[in-house]
Amino acid sequence: DGGSMPSMPWFGMDIGGTLTKLVYFEPKDITPDEADAEVETLKNIRRYLTRNSAYGKTGHRDTHLQMDNIVIRHRKGTLHFIRFPTSEMGNFLALAKSKGMATLVTTVSATGGGAYKFEDNFRRELNMRLAKFDELDSLIRGMLYVETNNPCECYYWVNPTEEGRCEKRFFDFSDPYPFLIVNIGSGVSVLAVYGPNNYRRISGTSLGGGTFLGLCCLLTGCNSFEEAIDLATGGDNTCVDKLVRDIYGGDYERFGLPGDLVASSFGQMNSKEKRATVSREDLARATLVTITNNIGSIARMCALNEKVERVVFVGNFLRVNPISMKLLAHAMDYWSKGTLKALFLEHEGYFGAVGCLLEFNS
Ligand code: ADP
Repeated sequence: DGGSMPSMPWFGMDIGGTLTKLVYFEPKDITPDEADAEVETLKNIRRYLTRNSAYGKTGHRDTHLQMDNIVIRHRKGTLHFIRFPTSEMGNFLALAKSKGMATLVTTVSATGGGAYKFEDNFRRELNMRLAKFDELDSLIRGMLYVETNNPCECYYWVNPTEEGRCEKRFFDFSDPYPFLIVNIGSGVSVLAVYGPNNYRRISGTSLGGGTFLGLCCLLTGCNSFEEAIDLATGGDNTCVDKLVRDIYGGDYERFGLPGDLVASSFGQMNSKEKRATVSREDLARATLVTITNNIGSIARMCALNEKVERVVFVGNFLRVNPISMKLLAHAMDYWSKGTLKALFLEHEGYFGAVGCLLEFNS
């Protein structure tokens, strides 16, 4: 029933506190008749999006995440995954306008806080209406869709703390319920999911990916997430944190706390001498470990409370960030004596945008 289909182009947009995620469906089953009827602007937009992987100065297409042969509303095509900093929204609107977007009468489905914040800008500058959807509904819907349409979406880490033996392994998530989602974006939300339309937001924390990046910029003078992660990769948090062994001289045996456990995050930085010896790399690593372990600890408490064993970590904080994934994997396993499992998904930050693309008119 083509009559009820939204007109092309089909986008789903998740306008977050830090990053805007844009998912674009490229139809691959265009008939000659349809091609004839298609306006030039629409063709140009499709060409521009699919022939480039960089847009303006800060837009990127994650080509490694692209999903081919996807069926949406009986149309077959490719899903493309694009992101840019939300602070660049002005430039994005100008670029979209220069590509003729304002001449197409379209409604785009959008989620995230920015769907509200920028609604007027979209209308004024692009003649575009936003169909707004809730970000947590979209997140779950998108996640279930991508999981069922991508055979290798879900994975976990084996031997996360052993450099040589650590590896990523596929996890069969076809029978998922119940599970927790820990969405680590600028801030953190924890959801307990019992069925496709049955979930609650059970917890959250403001100490999230935005906190890591903000503190890291303050402490090291770095200017991007990628730089912060690079610094952390070369650093050692044990020069910054106070460990159990710094206090006990070894393990705190009575309660089973190993000597190399962090007792106090940043606990050595009260000393002027210690401050003089730490590097930017060490400070970045300590910031990453502090934020990650705090999230891991909240996730564990939530899983215990809800009596749920599988915890899926998503959000762009985990982008190019194996250090945090491995820390979470280890913490969940270690402190639960092997009963909790930390799971990860390849399209980590894009589920809200996918869910919202699916939600429009269906
Ligand atoms: P939000 O919807 O709140 O923007 P995301 O899931 O997109 O949340 O995650 C944002 C977080 O992802 C940032 O706080 C940062 O920790 C991390 N991040 C990953 N890649 C980038 C990037 N290129 N620029 C900024 N932050 C990034």
